[in-house]
Amino acid sequence: MTRKYKPVEGCEECEYWGEACAECMLYGEAELIKPKTYAIRDKSNGSFYPRMRLDDILEEINRDRSEGWTDYDETDWREGLEQFTEWELIEDGQA
Ligand SMILES: [Zn+2]
Repeated sequence: MTRKYKPVEGCEECEYWGEACAECMLYGEAELIKPKTYAIRDKSNGSFYPRMRLDDILEEINRDRSEGWTDYDETDWREGLEQFTEWELIEDGQA
C-alpha cells in the first residue's frame, strides 16, 4: 500500500495537484494521511482487532478462493465480510 500525503497549504504545486508534491513529501512538510481503519472481531477465536485496515480486510475476504471468484473491493466488502468470513465489523470508520 502506498503512503499518501496531504497537500501542503500555501504550496502552489500541492494545490495544483490536489495532493502533496514530491518536494513537500521529500522535505517532510507534507503530513501523512492515516489509512482508515475498522474494528473487527474474529468470531472463530474471539480475537479483537481495533485497527484493521481495509486492505487487510479485503485480503481476508478474498484469500484462498476458488477459480472464478470475483474479488470483493472497497464498494462491497461489508457484504463479503459477512458472507464469507468469520469476521464481524464492530465499529466503522475510525481514522
Ligand atoms: Zn508542495
